[in-house]
Amino acid sequence: AAKDQGRGLHHVYSEDLLIEASRRREMEDDLRHALANDELHVVYQPVVSTVSERIVGYEALVRWQHTRRGVISPAEFIPVAEEAGLITGIGEWVLRTAIRDCARWPAGIRVAVNVSPMQFSNPKFPAIVANALSTASLDPSRLELEITESVFLNDDGRTDRMFKALKHLGVRLALDDFGTGYSALGYLKNAPFDKIKIDQSFVRGAIQAGNRNAAIIRAIVTLATTFGMETTAEGVEHQDEIAFVRDLGCSHIQGYVYGRPERNEHVLTALSGYGDPAAAVGHKVSRAP
Ligand code: C2E
Ligand code: MG
Ligand code: MG
Ligand code: MG
Repeated sequence: AAKDQGRGLHHVYSEDLLIEASRRREMEDDLRHALANDELHVVYQPVVSTVSERIVGYEALVRWQHTRRGVISPAEFIPVAEEAGLITGIGEWVLRTAIRDCARWPAGIRVAVNVSPMQFSNPKFPAIVANALSTASLDPSRLELEITESVFLNDDGRTDRMFKALKHLGVRLALDDFGTGYSALGYLKNAPFDKIKIDQSFVRGAIQAGNRNAAIIRAIVTLATTFGMETTAEGVEHQDEIAFVRDLGCSHIQGYVYGRPERNEHVLTALSGYGDPAAAVGHKVSRAP
């Protein structure tokens, strides 16, 4: 019986791998048609200044409403898209959609768009960005491109040229999920980031006394501030964390405490009355108690 059980376990294990592999292949096939089938949409999450407590922008996050499987998380399908070479088309569609939507928001509000390493290594990427901006007549300074530390892996000098070309367009650059990846500090010296986004894994639980995450946040903020960069604390969920990360020096907050990612219709409603002096105070974001 023990032998049977052992074989059974092995059998189940390899079957799991097969299921996993076929699920991935199926996802890849479905993803190929997702754009054409209108199954993708973009949602926007507010980014709030710790100083003014006002919304200064939104991050664009892609969603896939699969016909049979329901909503699939980008954490699951972006890596598949990346591997299958589909991220170029999907990423460009997200970029154009986000820029077009931002063009309908008040001029003080920016949009941030995630850029995958594969998009970032495409020499045509700056031309694509420039074309998307001019098509929507959006001021380049209202676009922030979020990249992760992984673009510094296997860097052969092209990364630096890409940074220069993008800064030349006048767009802003943010370093996303800082502290979770490769995290060599040397590149911060020369890379022209306007902002560092502190990964939510450091923010989570940072408020607990004696937690080392707070020291890490403080160190990142000190470095960023010295280099003239803004800092966004990601994943702030609780009311008491707002003052906490503000007191650690973070200039911005993004998290469920201020709002979950929502469709553009919701954003347009939230922003109506923005800039109207009478509504300015009311525009200060409210938070759940
Ligand atoms: P990210 O760029 O770091 O985006 C932030 C993620 O944290 C989002 O997850 C957001 O919904 C989530 N989040 C925000 N506030 C909170 C909070 O208070 N608590 C918790 N638990 N989570 C919070 P989402 O939308 O599932 O996206 C996951 C990742 O997928 C993104 O991480 C980004 O790396 C990638 N992604 C999303 N959209 C795109 C895209 O258009 N292109 C590319 N290349 N990647 C994308
Ligand atoms: Mg991001
Ligand atoms: Mg992030
Ligand atoms: Mg992330």
